[in-house]
Amino acid sequence: VLVMHEVSKTYLDGADEVHALRDVELTVEPGRMVAVMGPSGSGKSTLLTIAGALESPTSGEVHVAGQPLATLSRDERSRLRRRAIGYVFQDFNLLPGLTAAENVALPLELDGTGAGKARAAGMRALEELGLADRAARFPDQLSGGERQRVAIARAVVGDRRLLLADEPTGALDSTNGEAVMRMLLAACKRGLAAVVVTHDAQLASWADRVVFIRDGRIVDRTSPRPGPESLLTGEPAR
Ligand code: ATP
Ligand code: MG
Repeated sequence: VLVMHEVSKTYLDGADEVHALRDVELTVEPGRMVAVMGPSGSGKSTLLTIAGALESPTSGEVHVAGQPLATLSRDERSRLRRRAIGYVFQDFNLLPGLTAAENVALPLELDGTGAGKARAAGMRALEELGLADRAARFPDQLSGGERQRVAIARAVVGDRRLLLADEPTGALDSTNGEAVMRMLLAACKRGLAAVVVTHDAQLASWADRVVFIRDGRIVDRTSPRPGPESLLTGEPAR
């Protein structure tokens, strides 16, 4: 679903060049979760914004759901973002004036799905995350963990192919953090490819693969197994 080949990103900071990513190679197949770890400033968020077609790489190729991002028009990119890519931002990014259900249904409605159908799909996603009874609440009437689950419901609703999550457990205690990881793994089991940035080595070990990034370069990859199947029922893999 996601292929990044020789991807580099250089920001200009005044006269200085900041090499946020250097020659990154990353492939994530459907149903797989990759965890990304690394120090602050190492390029983790940059990697997600490029995979999510929010920014363009300085050089290199990115394919999402079979589409080479560089060849897409602006409209095609936004359509791909709305349809195929779910993005969980670190600060949730829920719209305060919309209820939980409206927040979740919004990407579908923006994409032309009728309001009734979008709301039904949104309710299903909220139900899956145990939030059916919170659907009518506004974000400021939800706990931090509930807000985060609403953000995840919004990222997985509809027919998404790629799920990108930037520190989705950062603001949560370990119980809620584990619950969020279980939800992301459940979405993967339905065939989504996921890239999850986390500082938590324990949670990272639940992924199919962990990549470590330092100064914009992938420096190490590990392949903890057994797979996520065991996690949905039992203890995290070690
Ligand atoms: P953190 O763990 O603190 O979130 P990160 O690994 O997500 O860090 P990035 O946000 O990807 O790090 O940033 C990588 C580097 O690129 C940093 O040196 C950062 O200062 C720089 N950077 C990020 N965005 C920009 C920008 N828009 N303009 C200039 N430099 C930037
Ligand atoms: Mg970051």
